[in-house]
Amino acid sequence: MDELLIYPDPILRKKAQFVENIDGKVKGIADHMAEVMHANKGIGLAAPQIGILSRILIVDIGEGCTVLINPEIVEGEGESLMEEGCLSLPTIEVPVKRVEKVFIRGQNLESKEVSLELFGFPGRVYQHEVDHLNGILIIHHISRLKRELLIKKMLIDIKRSRGQGSIL
Ligand SMILES: [Zn+2]
Repeated sequence: MDELLIYPDPILRKKAQFVENIDGKVKGIADHMAEVMHANKGIGLAAPQIGILSRILIVDIGEGCTVLINPEIVEGEGESLMEEGCLSLPTIEVPVKRVEKVFIRGQNLESKEVSLELFGFPGRVYQHEVDHLNGILIIHHISRLKRELLIKKMLIDIKRSRGQGSIL
């Protein structure tokens, strides 16, 4: 079973591949992604986060799970800055600049073309997941110095929480 990858796993920095055939295998991956996302209380997940370098993302912001394959950001408008977290970067939250309105195209599990026009927060979630498919994480939206400090702190936090876990 593929599990959630945590930074600095090198797979998270790799570019995912275009999905040629949307078959049962892709559906299986999407189902497993949903399981991992819900188990970790996430609202979005990209396939590379479970170690699969395919262009598949899922989003569930409380209205059910949407699967988007080969997503492509066609157009963006406006700008917004908001703190974001990421399941692959526990404890880290950083302000990320995104477009306010985004037009995304892709395919669903039935191989049908899907077009989404999204504003604000939902659009932000999709932009975050498309970044993952290109090997980009939220920490790559901030300066190198700030990134290095945050990663150092995160690794200490993870170690500490694991240590506590073994005592309890
Ligand atoms: Zn993420």
